[in-house]
Amino acid sequence: MNVVFLGPPGSGKGTMASRMAKRCNLLHLSTGDMLRAEIKQGTELGNLAKSFIDKGALVPDSVIIDMMSNRFLEEDAKNGVLLDGFPRTTAQAEALESIANIDSCINLVVAAEVVVNRVASRRVCANCGEVYSIKTYAKSDCEKCAGELTIRPDDNEKTIRARFAVYEEQTAPLIEYYTDKGILESVDATMPIEEEAEYIYGILSKI
Ligand code: AMP
Repeated sequence: MNVVFLGPPGSGKGTMASRMAKRCNLLHLSTGDMLRAEIKQGTELGNLAKSFIDKGALVPDSVIIDMMSNRFLEEDAKNGVLLDGFPRTTAQAEALESIANIDSCINLVVAAEVVVNRVASRRVCANCGEVYSIKTYAKSDCEKCAGELTIRPDDNEKTIRARFAVYEEQTAPLIEYYTDKGILESVDATMPIEEEAEYIYGILSKI
């Protein structure tokens, strides 16, 4: 089974995708995490991606499609993948069709104001990538690996508003794209986290 998680920045895609991947035994692939790893390693791809990410813009389709086509060739992607942050444009969704068969698209629905608020309180472990909210976790180190909790450079209000606008313009058309394919399920992403996780698991366990 291959699943796409769709939703604006700050909709909780990463958190839900990571939980569902563990529960459904799927590989969690986050393009944002993959790009941040490239930036950390100072690769050519990372340097290119950084200039787009810092502005809240999308990294060019050709770069992302190449990166994901290669990733899908690896052995661990053969048993099912949960895609978080990809595809983000119609061109990427069309390219994905020739890479893998998508069984379900989970669309997380949340308003811009909620997102800005959430992202302002988001902290990410610099070591393992675990995501926290300062509203529910007051410590400065990770509960799982004791890594330092940091603020993502693109998690400031100006960039998050730009990212939301980019989402509405370039990614939201994928809602219709996957609706037309008959595989889209929309989920209210403002539900309490455990309730939301059960709801999504209910959808995925029927596939
Ligand atoms: P995320 O961690 O999913 O919020 O992604 C962070 C940033 O990485 C985005 O704002 C984009 O600049 C870039 N990015 C991640 N995934 C993609 C993608 N599929 N296409 C283009 N840019 C992407």
